[in-house]
Order: sequence, then C-alpha cells, then structure tokens
Amino acid sequence: MTIKKVAVIGSGTMGSQIAMVCALAGYDVILQDISEESLEKAKESLTEHMERRIKKGRLTEEQVKEGFARLTFSTSIHSLNTADFVIEAAVEKLDIKREIFKKLDEVTPKHAILATNSSTIVSSKLADVTSRPDKVCNVHFFNPALVMELVEVVQGPHTSDQTAQMSVEFVNSIHKLPVLLKKEISGFVANRILGKLMDEAVYLLENGYATHEDIDLVCTKALNHPIGPFALMDLTGIDVNYFVRMQRYQESGNESDKPAKLIQEKVERGELGRKSGKGFYTYS
Ligand code: NAD
Repeated sequence: MTIKKVAVIGSGTMGSQIAMVCALAGYDVILQDISEESLEKAKESLTEHMERRIKKGRLTEEQVKEGFARLTFSTSIHSLNTADFVIEAAVEKLDIKREIFKKLDEVTPKHAILATNSSTIVSSKLADVTSRPDKVCNVHFFNPALVMELVEVVQGPHTSDQTAQMSVEFVNSIHKLPVLLKKEISGFVANRILGKLMDEAVYLLENGYATHEDIDLVCTKALNHPIGPFALMDLTGIDVNYFVRMQRYQESGNESDKPAKLIQEKVERGELGRKSGKGFYTYS
C-alpha cells in the first residue's frame, strides 16, 4: 500500500498543524471537523503561521501555495472515503474518539491505517470498535506540530508489525523523527515524564512555595528547559491537561490521578491558556 491521501480529524491546535505538515510534505490532505467555525479558525491560523515562515525564509511562497492547494477542509466524515492514512486529533474524550473510530471504520477504505494523536489514550481502547484492529495505532505529535520534530508511534498488542512499520515510514516521510514504542502504556514516554514535572510544579504553587513565574524561571535557567511548566500548560491548553488527568483517573480509579484543584478551577473559569487569552499568564 502506498500512502497518497491523508485525513486528519479535528482542526484544533494539533489537527490543523498536523494537516499542514502533511500537505507541505507532498500529501493530499483532508482536514475534517464537525465545527465549521473551527475549520475557519484553522485556515486563519495556518495562513498566519505560513506568512511568518515565508518572512523568516523557512519556506518559499511557492511551497506554501502548493501546500494549501493540497489541503481540503471538510465538515463531512464521508469525504474520507479515499484516505489511506487517518490521524484522529479530535477532543481528548474517550467516548467521542470511540464514536469517531467506529465511523472511520465504516467510511474509509479497508486498507487505511487509523491512527490517534491522543496525548494519553492507548489505541487498544479504540481498536475494538473497528473491524481492523491490526491497522490501529497511536501516532503522537507534539505541540506545536509544525515545529516539533519528534513523533511517538505506539504499537498496541492488536497492531500489526506492518502497520507499525508503515506508520514509522510515514512519519519519516513528513520529515519528522519517529520513536516506536513496541508496547503500549497510557501517556507514552514524553507525557509520563512531563506529567511528573507538572505535578511537582503545581504542588509547589498550590502550597505557596513559589510563584508560577519563579517556578518557570527555575526550570528554564537552572534546568535549562526551553520553556517552564506553567508557560507550557498555557501553550498546550490547561483543559487538555485536565482531560488527560480525568481520563487517567477514570482508567485507574486512583484519587492521585485526578486533576489538581488549581487546574480544575482554571478550567471552570475558562482560563485555558493562550487559546482563551488567559491561563497562568495573560496574553494580548
Ligand atoms: P482542540 O480542542 O484544540 O481541538 C479539538 C477539535 O476537535 C475541535 O476543533 C473540535 O471541533 C473537534 N472535534 C470534536 N469532536 C469532533 C468529532 N466528533 N469529529 C471531528 N472533530 C471533532 O484540541 P487539541 O489540543 O488539538 O487536541 C486534539 C488531540 O490531540 C487530543 O487527543 C489531544 O490529547 C492531542 N494532543 C494535544 C496536544 C496539545 O498540546 N494540545 C499535544 C499532543 C496531542
């Protein structure tokens, strides 16, 4: 099977940029979302990102024009009937993802690989709603997907070696760096390690040991991290952090997996980070 057409489900923070990465690499791409508004936002944000890249000399006008020409926006899941490789990047809720995978199994060609970009949900929680579990896996990009090089490919017990290998080759073909996990675990490698750092940062803030600005400063200047944990949560979306923890809590039933009170309060107030203009920091 040669991959010609890629479909990305969900045109939010991740899906929009993943779709553009694939289009710039030469694939025909359909970006699908149930929300017309989200698709419009994706077009606007990608246009801005591409203009900046042209100005910085990272891409030529021609490359961007060709990229956009290969990218189609759609609200209909039926437009995926010719997709060879699907990357699901819809909201981090298991029931919604299961619905999407069921539908994907119906509408996409039988040979198509169905991958999820979920930050934490292993693909065995999705594969059983399809008639092709051997073609289901995780392909996990990092934020911002246009910039971040590494992609985790996770092979579940149901995923065939061929699917894992093709997914690795696909990631190489879009000029990213794949790492293959041969055994699945919720949160994979990067987010499990990052989760521990975030927990400690929130603990220190909640208990009044240091301000979020100072904790970020320590991480950037003492540990040499490129960005502090609170600035990173603002970038990722505080709601994403919340959903990830709720998902883990629902899986484990362990109280310590629940989102921190501080995170829950931020989400209730709609302070979600950069995307809402305010998170731990304020954005204009
Ligand atoms: P987001 O909230 O920015 O976007 C989610 C999009 O999904 C929205 O546009 C919404 O309209 C759409 N959607 C909801 N239900 C849908 C459906 N049934 N069909 C099609 N589209 C639907 O979320 P995001 O931050 O882009 O995260 C998307 C996925 O990527 C999640 O699984 C998340 O865990 C994962 N992820 C996020 C990050 C991050 O930093 N934000 C990083 C890596 C992976």
